[in-house]
Amino acid sequence: MTEHVKPQAFTADVAKLLHLMVHSIYSDKDVFLRELISNAADACEKLRYEALQNPDLSGGDALLIRVEADAEANSITITDNGIGMSDEDLVSALGTIARSGTKTFLDSLAPEGQDEAQKPNLDLIGQFGIGFYSAFMVAKNVVVETRRAGTDKAFRWTSDGQGTYEITPLALDDAPQHGTRVILHLSEEAKDFTNTYRLRSIIQHHSSAITVPVDLIEKGEEPDRISQGVALWARPKSDVSAEDYTEFYQSLSGQFDEPALTLHWRAEGRYEYNVLAFVPGSKPFDLFEPERKGKGKLYVRRVLINESADMLPGWLRFVRLVVDSADIPLNVSREMIQQSPIYTAIKKAVANRIVQDLIKCAENEPDKFKALWQNFGAVLKEGLYEDPEKRDDLFKLARFASTRSDEPVRSLADYVKDKQENQTAIYYLLGEDIKRLKASPQLEGFAARNIEVLLLPDAVDAFWVTNAVGFDGKPFKSVTQGAADLALIPLADGASAQPEAGADVAALLVYMKDHLQSDIADVRISDRLSTSAACLVAAENAQDRRLERILSSNGQMPAMSKPVLEINAGHALVQSFAAHLKAGTDTALVDDGIHLLLDQSRLLDGDTLADPAAFAARLSRMINKAMA
Ligand code: ADP
Ligand code: MG
Repeated sequence: MTEHVKPQAFTADVAKLLHLMVHSIYSDKDVFLRELISNAADACEKLRYEALQNPDLSGGDALLIRVEADAEANSITITDNGIGMSDEDLVSALGTIARSGTKTFLDSLAPEGQDEAQKPNLDLIGQFGIGFYSAFMVAKNVVVETRRAGTDKAFRWTSDGQGTYEITPLALDDAPQHGTRVILHLSEEAKDFTNTYRLRSIIQHHSSAITVPVDLIEKGEEPDRISQGVALWARPKSDVSAEDYTEFYQSLSGQFDEPALTLHWRAEGRYEYNVLAFVPGSKPFDLFEPERKGKGKLYVRRVLINESADMLPGWLRFVRLVVDSADIPLNVSREMIQQSPIYTAIKKAVANRIVQDLIKCAENEPDKFKALWQNFGAVLKEGLYEDPEKRDDLFKLARFASTRSDEPVRSLADYVKDKQENQTAIYYLLGEDIKRLKASPQLEGFAARNIEVLLLPDAVDAFWVTNAVGFDGKPFKSVTQGAADLALIPLADGASAQPEAGADVAALLVYMKDHLQSDIADVRISDRLSTSAACLVAAENAQDRRLERILSSNGQMPAMSKPVLEINAGHALVQSFAAHLKAGTDTALVDDGIHLLLDQSRLLDGDTLADPAAFAARLSRMINKAMA
């Protein structure tokens, strides 16, 4: 073991984090105790789990966390009889920071080339546990004495948090039977922490998520049990305060907001299990990371079996979940559990119940649900696409922005209730943001008939609308695809009808079709325009243009298909093109004109121009003519 005696350096990240911590970016120093107790509890849960296979490990004693304060020595000792650490564990666990989020966290605090003293983003700090190293917020020296359960070697780890640590072997007599003792030699400023009143209040405040009893001991006094270590989810709802729930949620999620929704129930039918689920009050930072897996903590009769079991469908991945089952057999491996029919049944029931509770919230507390939908609607909508079985339920939840509301508050039921005479479809427009969508020329004919159009700004929208058959017997129809077929729907008061297209316009159509055929599939008279001269739509049998754009930018589609150019027969520009064409005096002018009309429609559609140089040349010729 002697090779461990020489001082070892923390990894660069840790040194940086220690520095930040000592300079107290985190004003609330109390968190050190929360972090150390939660580590002690984790160690006990790991022992519980390993003892399933190997009952000798626990030596038969009850799991317990002890916090001892010694005012005279100015120290606090946190002891657990959990799994303990080997010397390799010590190096890998306490010499580096394991949390994957740590790097992101550090980067966010001091982005490269930026002044380190710059104000850190406190919202973000809340999203990362700061773990073991928070001990150095209060301690000038930390000693960890530990023995891994089932081994006969013990070690002492010491550090002053200045960049190095030491590991030395420890005589078994001086070590815990199994488990870990963390001794904090407090700094002068942190002296107050030996005050047991203060310690008691911190422990009480942070113990709701701790499934192991916690004793507080003032040097020379009897131990005082501060927390019974009863799992919160196993307690009757009436026994749990809102603060308990919030505190538990925060430790479960690593977020420091309030849960938007707390769901706590006990299932007692075919299978028995307790569930505690939270919808966060704000977006977790990893909501759109590529993995997109829904996870939960799975316990079987209070034993933590899997920290991140695939308990939830991806479209519920924002939910923070604990499930404790009485029925899943304990003597099988984690992998086997995930394949057991009981597990599958529980999983399904849990997702169902969460969706039903969300529907209740949407119906009974619309304001609360509005905020929830704004945070997680884009994720829930993935379910419309991925989980056809759940589509009807998710349609009850879905809220949309539309030509009637900039905010996503319109339900499909609202839409159908307010539809116009002879309207047979649910119209939508896909795009990037509401403001731009609202300015689309394709909406004009719908506005003239008072027809509501759903404005769908999320990428996932392009997928579910094409998959969903419809709602309430009405198909979803893109306002930028195919013929609009609006003729049967009466115009709103004050809107004027499109004039019949005369022979001159008909001739212009033929001419345009001929001259623009390399760029477009067809030219036709539009009934969706009233003030603009032209717009692009997708052909009847093509995909919506926004979906095509997403697919072709992902390389999932070779190229965009040719759009249809629709023109407004009543528009002055169109009529003047037609007149010029008929006169036959300046076809070059008409040529430039129709190409500019096409390019203008492309720009309005969010497309780039196929030939910007030609566009510029045509525009210059036009301007020249106008100024001549
Ligand atoms: P985290 O708890 O998020 O993993 P920490 O910095 O709190 O991060 O702890 C780092 C690691 O140190 C833990 O993952 C664990 O392996 C080890 N560790 C810390 N405290 C204990 C303890 N009391 N008993 C056993 N292992 C511990
Ligand atoms: Mg920890």
